[in-house]
Amino acid sequence: MYAKTRPKESFVVTGARVLDPAEGVDATLDVRVDDGVIAAIGTSLERNEHRVVEGSGLVLAPAFVDPHVHLRTPGREDEETMASGTAAAAAGGYCAILAMPNTEPVVDSAAVLGSLIEQARADAEIPVGFLAAITKGQAGAELTEMGELADQGAAGFTDDGRPVRSPGLMRRALQYASITDRRLALHEEELSLSRDGQMHEGEVSAELGFAGYPSVAESLMVERDLALAAYETQPLHLMHLSARESVAALAAAQAGGLRATGEVTPHHLCLTDEAVRSLDPNLKMNPPLRSAEDRAALIDGLRAGTITCVATDHAPHARHEKEVPFEEAPFGVTGLETAFAALYTYLVEPGVLSLETLLECMSAGPARAYGLAPPRIAVGAPANLVLLDGNARWQVTERGFRSRSVNSWLLGKTLKGKVRATVADGRLVYEG
Ligand SMILES: [Zn+2]
Ligand SMILES: [Zn+2]
Repeated sequence: MYAKTRPKESFVVTGARVLDPAEGVDATLDVRVDDGVIAAIGTSLERNEHRVVEGSGLVLAPAFVDPHVHLRTPGREDEETMASGTAAAAAGGYCAILAMPNTEPVVDSAAVLGSLIEQARADAEIPVGFLAAITKGQAGAELTEMGELADQGAAGFTDDGRPVRSPGLMRRALQYASITDRRLALHEEELSLSRDGQMHEGEVSAELGFAGYPSVAESLMVERDLALAAYETQPLHLMHLSARESVAALAAAQAGGLRATGEVTPHHLCLTDEAVRSLDPNLKMNPPLRSAEDRAALIDGLRAGTITCVATDHAPHARHEKEVPFEEAPFGVTGLETAFAALYTYLVEPGVLSLETLLECMSAGPARAYGLAPPRIAVGAPANLVLLDGNARWQVTERGFRSRSVNSWLLGKTLKGKVRATVADGRLVYEG
């Protein structure tokens, strides 16, 4: 992971509900950070003249890790930059993010990756890891030099935005990725089925007259790749799952002993295809919002531990590209700055999902899926913390974003739950 190097900080968070489900901590405590490291956890701690961050009435949890972010750099800095994307992540409670390689140019060579790493060292507000492409130019024809990319610092491999169409090439990708000990992360889409689909194929698409993108376009590829991974006994990470059949396939593969992980986005957890009736282009994403049964299966997948990662798939788009009729809009929505509040409002407040499960799936789950050290609240651990206000109500507005893009499905909505402060690698990187 790469970020600006700056001095670590010392401070005390006092009187917060310290909640780290993985560490089994849930109590009102002080947490003292000395030079970026958690030095003491307890009641009435010696403050050592550190700065005090008042935590009473708030929850202090391990900061979030987003395994799926489009930073748009290099190539589309009008939509996002290293600085704006990582500032948005800090405001969303994230201490680390993984960036996707479908940039211009594609991150498919050690040279492109190396320059991104340099840029992160100059501009990134929080640590960023970079996934490199599976195939050159993400064209699906020829594998990248995975060994060289791993040596250069690639955090994993993906052709996100596109599937790897050839099963033979996917099999070889699994073999090579295993040599590098990096995860393959897959965007699962059978293009001959999704075709020109604008939204989930179902009753709503029929009524609206939009071309449908059926669930089976995803689940068929999920089943193919799980079968290949099982045959090669290699681990696999499935990105942005949307269909109940995909969740069932993942559960079956895990039960069979495969080390497969899955992620799900806030929008797929909060919404169904019914929302598309508004024709808001900010509800157009790939994979599309699906049925109520699919949404329920995704939530059940989190509860059951089949899906262990919440990923925003933060996909900034320029205003002129997104402010067009639904049919002409590109796929993708932003999410870094609203993920926690959206999920708190739509799932935790109504009692659909526990706060503990949400916190684990936004932090330890994604870290483990990529073999990264999970953020934790324990003496001796680097301080990666988020301070959350479960009572705050706020309205999502364009002016509130640190991201350069405003294509959020939550614009104008009032959410409950707010990130008050973020600590990433021993520094307070956000206070709001
Ligand atoms: Zn994707
Ligand atoms: Zn994506």
